[in-house]
Amino acid sequence: MIYLSLKTAFNREGCPVCRLVKEQEDRYLFNLLYENVNDGPTRNLIRGSLGLCNYHAWALQAREAKEWNDGLGAAIIYQDLASLVIERIEDLSGEIEALTAISKKSTGGVSIKRGKILRRDKPGLKFAKRLYPKYKCHICKSLEQSADAYLSWLVKGLTKADFREAYLLSDGLCLPHLREALTMAKEEGAAITLIQKAKEYLKELNMNLLEYIRKHSWEFRGEEKRPEELASWIRAIAFFAGEARENVTDSITQSRIRALKNYRKMHINENNGNEKNENWTEKT
Ligand SMILES: [Zn+2]
Ligand SMILES: [Zn+2]
Repeated sequence: MIYLSLKTAFNREGCPVCRLVKEQEDRYLFNLLYENVNDGPTRNLIRGSLGLCNYHAWALQAREAKEWNDGLGAAIIYQDLASLVIERIEDLSGEIEALTAISKKSTGGVSIKRGKILRRDKPGLKFAKRLYPKYKCHICKSLEQSADAYLSWLVKGLTKADFREAYLLSDGLCLPHLREALTMAKEEGAAITLIQKAKEYLKELNMNLLEYIRKHSWEFRGEEKRPEELASWIRAIAFFAGEARENVTDSITQSRIRALKNYRKMHINENNGNEKNENWTEKT
């Protein structure tokens, strides 16, 4: 099955492993929203990492907005996290009282212990410790494992002639995946295929980049840029950084901007007794 998925990905554009991992990420986010929002083990993983990493948190929001034009799944996941963090802060209520007492005495970051005044250099440290995640984002972790699995099958596959042929006809691996694949390769043949392919791909890319740059000069501005030249700089970024993962529409970006503004507006209105700010949107 994995060989087949890889071979199919070889026929598509871009790094095949980036593509397969991205597809898996899409499926994972969909399943999380569709059936695992209230699933206990998933909930524990998300609690353990205090939410998802920045990328996956927003990818989750984008997926839900795109699929259902809604945020209920995200609301449920993040409401749970909000109550978890409130709990953790409240567990340290004794600490809050101690700090409040200190600040009332205007001793500024100083605590009173055994009748002595001791300096407290980092009054927030106890809170900070309770706010660190135990684990890293579980989606990142599971996608790293999938990438490793795809790469190890790919490297093994390169010892077979038909698979190697198919790989050589593909766009090849991006640099981050190439490094990993080369580290995994146990057969010389596989390592040579990976390196040869990367060399050929980069040489062609380099030529296209040079042409793209040349045709930007005044002297040669009349020359038509070929499609592979127009694509060259994007392909170069993709080679060095891996394929782009985010797939966010304008309307999703707009809804994020609206959320930022509306929430801020609400707080400003609360603090100012609901006056002023009619022209808030224009002002910002
Ligand atoms: Zn890649
Ligand atoms: Zn992540």
